[in-house]
Amino acid sequence: MSRCNFSIQKLMFSFLSPKQNSSASPITAKSILLALLSVSSSMAIATPTAQANRLETFVYDLNDSKIQFSLKNDIEPKGVVINNPTRIVIDLPGLVYQGPTVRRRVGKGVQAVRVGQVDANTTRMVVELSPEVTLNPRDLRLKSLKPGEWTMKLPQNIAAIDLNSATNFILPIAGAVISSGFGWRVHPITGERRLHKGVDFAAPTGTPIFAASDGVVTEAGWTDGGYGNIVELRHSDGSITLYAHTNRVYVSKGQAISRGQAIAEVGSTGRSTGPHLHFEMQPDGKTAVDPMDYLQMRQVTLDLASNSFKD
Ligand SMILES: [Zn+2]
Repeated sequence: MSRCNFSIQKLMFSFLSPKQNSSASPITAKSILLALLSVSSSMAIATPTAQANRLETFVYDLNDSKIQFSLKNDIEPKGVVINNPTRIVIDLPGLVYQGPTVRRRVGKGVQAVRVGQVDANTTRMVVELSPEVTLNPRDLRLKSLKPGEWTMKLPQNIAAIDLNSATNFILPIAGAVISSGFGWRVHPITGERRLHKGVDFAAPTGTPIFAASDGVVTEAGWTDGGYGNIVELRHSDGSITLYAHTNRVYVSKGQAISRGQAIAEVGSTGRSTGPHLHFEMQPDGKTAVDPMDYLQMRQVTLDLASNSFKD
């Protein structure tokens, strides 16, 4: 926004000249240090480039404590750390992001990741951190080993906050893509505008479904309401999780289940357009809320190119 910020950016990143490097080899390792922006304000805006480019994926990986993103073409990101609340902001100047801002809750240390457009020519990625996290921008480095692919290691202490957090619920499926999020939508089969009370994870038939937390099976098997074969678990705090459209159910009513235990497998039973897990969470045992607000995410992938990640 201000000239002052712009000069900070210039200062921090001017040592990095992609033209200077790129002639040597098509695969050039690059590294960019982040700057600290103590005042919360917009970033400097670089001149737009003519090339058609876009952000393809944005990944937060808790296991490796890193973020990763890929672009169709190479571009030089600009990164800053902002305090109160602590967040890492990475801007992609000259890159237009067409779509609504996508924000996903992650956990305690890294609270959320967000991707959206900040102005007509800039795509912005934000990693929102817990207020208890303090970051030295000098510890953060954006690295690119391949054109268009960038990684940034986060300090291990952030991952530790996430891993030690008391969050009870885990993702009930591994390596699946969210094909439909929680919220109002036009139903793919009935065409009606209805509240989608859960999150859909697309996965092949037979993919195991895990209990999101310890609990007791309150329903297991066929239901007539459109959910096909379901498993419903009641947890000690009175909350309920529901797993629908399953191909096969491994558990029976009344059975005690531990968190992470395989309880069913993905299918397409009931009113369903293809194999997926419909996962629902009712914290009070009655009202469904967005389960993503309750899950401890080990990895969050925003697949922005295919636009399969919708809100
Ligand atoms: Zn669903």
